[in-house]
Amino acid sequence: MIPMVDLTAQYDDIRGEIEKGFSEVLDGAQFILGPNVQAFEQECAEYLGARHAVSCASGTDALHLALAAAGVGPGDEVITSPFTFIATAEAIRYVGATPVFVDIDPQSFNIDLELAARAITPRTRAIMPVHLFGQPVDAEACQALACEHNLLMIEDCAQSFGASWRGKQTGTFGIAGCFSFFPSKNLGGYGDGGLVCTESADIAEELRVLRNHGSRERYHHHVIGYNSRLDELQAVILRAKLKRIDRYNNERRRVARTYSEALAELPGITVPAETAGAHHVYHQYTLLLDGDRARVMEALKQAGSASAIYYPIPLHRQEVFLRDYAGVSLPVAESAAERCLSLPIYPELDPARQQTVIDALRTALN
Ligand SMILES: *Cc1c(COP(=O)(O)O)cnc(C)c1O
Repeated sequence: MIPMVDLTAQYDDIRGEIEKGFSEVLDGAQFILGPNVQAFEQECAEYLGARHAVSCASGTDALHLALAAAGVGPGDEVITSPFTFIATAEAIRYVGATPVFVDIDPQSFNIDLELAARAITPRTRAIMPVHLFGQPVDAEACQALACEHNLLMIEDCAQSFGASWRGKQTGTFGIAGCFSFFPSKNLGGYGDGGLVCTESADIAEELRVLRNHGSRERYHHHVIGYNSRLDELQAVILRAKLKRIDRYNNERRRVARTYSEALAELPGITVPAETAGAHHVYHQYTLLLDGDRARVMEALKQAGSASAIYYPIPLHRQEVFLRDYAGVSLPVAESAAERCLSLPIYPELDPARQQTVIDALRTALN
């Protein structure tokens, strides 16, 4: 079976480096906020071109802590996309703010910034674009919108490590950029992890306090904080992968190009569009399908390939938000949820296996 993502192939390549790093950590017996975490944060900041990078326990926490550090709270509205993973909206709720979902652009699946502009009210405090599937939103336009209306821009970069908008990394346009190192993400650990990058020394300092029980100095607690730290073993893995992230992302782009060239002419398929100015890193390869999606997925399965639906239900239609969004229609997101289909993509997906996926789709659609 060809899986959506295969993490074993990548491990073979970095096994030696990871085992050596693990052995050093185990011998040194410093597991939390040690030298690997510090080095990883430094290396991330350099890679991203950000002044500060503060790691934490997950991408969800990165979003939560960034909102908290920026002072977003009860009574505030945060404009975001309904076509994303639930964590985007959960984080907004954690700080007591209200997510305001606006519809997406049908080409990029990212938040429609014109609709976002129209959703601004006196209570709007922040805008949280999601660089979905690894494709950056028009980050300069989003920045300009935030600037014009005095909003905080906090980027959900969980799927976009290494993606850039006109040569500048995602995460560096807003007041904070929030990354996830969940294993299947473009830069993934072997467990949970996250990171926030920021240009603001104040926000970086606040993040360091919040992630560590509200403490600047050991056993002195200034605020109620959290236990949200990256551990040394994850940092070892992430440091090894960070060195190779451009290669990994370029391989993803190669796989995506092969899919798009082979599938563009098939009836009933709309292959993903790359926005001019966006360096897309294809966390997912997600196309739109006319017709019977379940039948196509079954055909893929019969041919030995996984496929998946990211995402089947937009957030305004999730049970948890139904009461607040009853009667709200976001037709582009709803249509995308009904028609989207994601194919296997990972750096090590070899041409022969990819051809199996392509052939199965061809047979199913012709
Ligand atoms: C994965 C993901 C998150 C959450 O990251 P975790 O590390 O799993 O907590 C948030 N937003 C988006 C868009 C994601 O894909």
